[in-house]
Amino acid sequence: MSKSIQTPTIKYTQLFINNEFVNSISGKTFATINPSTGEKICDVQEADKADVDAAVTAARKAFQLGSPWRNMDASARGKLLYKLADLVERDQEYLAALESLDNGMPHFDALEETNGVANCLRYHAGFADKIHGKTIPVDGNYFCYTRHEPIGVCGQIIPWNFPLETVSWKFGPALACGNTLILKPSEETPLTALYMASLVLEAGFPPGVVNVLPGYGSTAGAAIAEHMDVDKLSFTGSVEVGKLVKIASAKSNLKRVTLELGGKSPNIVFADTEDLDTAVLMGHEALFFNMGQCCCAGSRTFVQEEIYDEFVKRSIERAMNRTVDNPLANTNAESGPQISQVQFDKIMDLIESGKKEGAELGCGGSRYGDKGYFIQPTVFFNVKDEMRIAKEEIFGPVQCIFKFKSIEEVIERANNTHYGLAAAVFTKDIDKALTISNALQAGTVWVNTYNTCGASTPFGGYKMSGNGRELGEYGLQEYTEIKTVTISLSQKS
Ligand code: NAD
Repeated sequence: MSKSIQTPTIKYTQLFINNEFVNSISGKTFATINPSTGEKICDVQEADKADVDAAVTAARKAFQLGSPWRNMDASARGKLLYKLADLVERDQEYLAALESLDNGMPHFDALEETNGVANCLRYHAGFADKIHGKTIPVDGNYFCYTRHEPIGVCGQIIPWNFPLETVSWKFGPALACGNTLILKPSEETPLTALYMASLVLEAGFPPGVVNVLPGYGSTAGAAIAEHMDVDKLSFTGSVEVGKLVKIASAKSNLKRVTLELGGKSPNIVFADTEDLDTAVLMGHEALFFNMGQCCCAGSRTFVQEEIYDEFVKRSIERAMNRTVDNPLANTNAESGPQISQVQFDKIMDLIESGKKEGAELGCGGSRYGDKGYFIQPTVFFNVKDEMRIAKEEIFGPVQCIFKFKSIEEVIERANNTHYGLAAAVFTKDIDKALTISNALQAGTVWVNTYNTCGASTPFGGYKMSGNGRELGEYGLQEYTEIKTVTISLSQKS
């Protein structure tokens, strides 16, 4: 039975610098909007260059040798992260409601997101005292070893599509490795990151270790990216802005940059798939999860010709049955609104281009309801590779279904994109599954599943989907510098 949940009270709207909630130096604020209604939720303090400078100064001080953070045992850093995870779990219902309010995420998904946050923090907490180097048997009378040291002050810029989970992907590895950080949430969704800042304070992290600065990309974001005293930048967002932050790094201090960018991920369904219903449902969720606002969304569904018509028919039926509603008014809603009017307009423009370029519209294609930024779950079939909807990242609830004949053909078409974030294949033939998995240019390949990932599985892109990896043991490597120490000995031992 569907039920509604109360609109959460907003508790934190100020910048978080040096363990204090403060107003912006300029006194400027910006409004954050409820995408289910298009109405303002509240005003939030707007960080700018001067606030970034203040946060970097605090983070640098916290990173100095002899500071409480640098003196802390690695296991104690882990304990702080465990504590933070416990606090997230304690406040899970509140955090999920806040996410639904600010981002429009469906209730169930928002609750799952908070579980993901706690898991991610705990995974990295366990690593805090297990990040270590090697001893190396070099020639001569020397003792040689490596240390994996924290990089320093890390800038972290994140998007709006999973505002809470992305915070844990950034905090977890940076803090486990002993760095300090300045996180800038998206201007669309600042509220859950600010609440996380309050939990950082409660958990007992020393001042300056974590700083959270809501603000705009071209001001606060750019100030972080070009700052001479930020040592590393971890960016998640669009390809366009990914390029800008790399340029900013090159023009300033060559800070290390890792990028998690967009995708146009192929989901390939062979006629010999074990169970067509499962493949249809997985293909549906691969795209419609989080209203299509997922970097690894299965946004190109390739289906082998023998099962194509049946797959299309069942996919349309499933999309037409998807429950769309305001997540706070209806906890059973499977989909909420798109994040903003800008995204709504961009998606509607791409839907129109699909119609004009000759793709067949199976269902949807229009606004849903009369307020907020809702779009009907939309299915296009007989989509051709050269259409805009086949090439551009739609980031909306628009499934595009393509027909293919052979394995060679589908590999070539799947790889024919500048992106390379994720891919999936549905088949019961292990040989085919492995051939395709090896051939696809993607950071993640799923076989007979989709979106199966967690804190232990490295995530990131080939080609223009990014540089570096997040999560897993590989993700930790992006937050350390490796130092080689070679000591002359009087005798070989
Ligand atoms: P965006 O690139 O517009 O913004 C991302 C962040 O960058 C925001 O915080 C924004 O304020 C900031 N920003 C904007 N201009 C900036 C500048 N000049 N300098 C520094 N920072 C700046 O992306 P978005 O619209 O918020 O998010 C959607 C995009 O993110 C999609 O392309 C999606 O695929 C991608 N994404 C990727 C992953 C991944 O892990 N690969 C995960 C989630 C989202």
